[in-house]
Amino acid sequence: MSLRLGFRRRIPKGEKLDVAIIGGGPAGLSAALYSARFLLKTAVLTENVGGQLLNTDYVDDYPGLGKIRATDLISKFRSHAERLFNVPIYDGIKVDKIEKVDDTWFRLRGNGVDIYAKAIILAIGSLRRRLGVPGEKEYSGHGVSYCSICDAPFFRGKNSVVVVGGGDSALEGALVLSGYVKKVYLVHRRREFRAKPFYVELVRSKNNIEFLLDTVVKKIKGDSNKVTSVVVENKATKERKELKIDGIFIEIGFEPPKEWFKKIGLKTDERGYLKVDEWMRTNIEGIFAAGDCTNVWIGFRQIITASAMGAVAAYAVYNHLIEKGLYKPNKTVISTKERNG
Ligand code: NAP
Repeated sequence: MSLRLGFRRRIPKGEKLDVAIIGGGPAGLSAALYSARFLLKTAVLTENVGGQLLNTDYVDDYPGLGKIRATDLISKFRSHAERLFNVPIYDGIKVDKIEKVDDTWFRLRGNGVDIYAKAIILAIGSLRRRLGVPGEKEYSGHGVSYCSICDAPFFRGKNSVVVVGGGDSALEGALVLSGYVKKVYLVHRRREFRAKPFYVELVRSKNNIEFLLDTVVKKIKGDSNKVTSVVVENKATKERKELKIDGIFIEIGFEPPKEWFKKIGLKTDERGYLKVDEWMRTNIEGIFAAGDCTNVWIGFRQIITASAMGAVAAYAVYNHLIEKGLYKPNKTVISTKERNG
């Protein structure tokens, strides 16, 4: 999804950049504005602008902004990089191939892109985890959703839905859905929540949200069109019951795009997240990473942490390009060596 309809910019074929940022969530857009502040020729290539923020309703934990709609925050991130610092942002782009051409250039190719960059910041986020139960695939998009915040309005006035998961996404999703449907079942496989206590308290205060804890989904059932019920099982008693529902929201976290990383030759940790050092460097010289695709601060994926990683990655790219003799800072810019003594 793009926040802009109609006109879509196309990146010129053969374009040469100091740094190509892949991904347009908070990590990528923060990297973009920092990179532009270092006067690097920068562009953002992304499938959509906003990243995981597109799956959020309101944000109230980004310092200095109070409570703000996620869509408004995305617009602020975007216009900060694009309008204030003139970084072009190209959406609708999927990069498939990254090759090292010579000592200076990487070539990036994919859907809508064939360009060169001296350095790359990967800020591509992660993918939604699937439950893997019968009926899930069959009814995906027909009552099975992976984004409560995006799809809740389609369920306005319905009788009941299930939300699966015990993290921030599931609890935030249950809260939003409780404003649209008569009854929300929150199905979680443990008794303890991974979500922030703040969300747990809020969910507990809603009288149309019922907790089904220590409980797992066994099967999603439906008619020829859509989901009609779900079979759940209590893990302790093995008791099964079938809940009549209009939809099921699977909010059980994310997984990194491991196969894509492997294809490029990037090293990951045992869970598949990109291994980076404290300067967001990957195992391939010249390729940096930031945000949810990295192995940094797993379990605390926040806008502010992703943004911080983006800023650090941009600074590291700037230093890398100077050290490799691939970028000469303008005389008015103090080099890292001068700055660090
Ligand atoms: P998460 O924190 O990884 O939580 C996933 C939840 O799903 C866990 O409760 C987990 O159970 C459960 N789960 C995982 N695999 C499952 C399976 N196969 N079957 C059943 N349940 C399963 O994911 P998330 O809630 O999407 O959050 C991801 C990150 O984004 C977190 O860092 C979170 O803080 C952040 N986030 C922040 C906000 C916010 O601050 N407003 C909003 C949304 C997300 P267990 O607990 O038993 O492992």
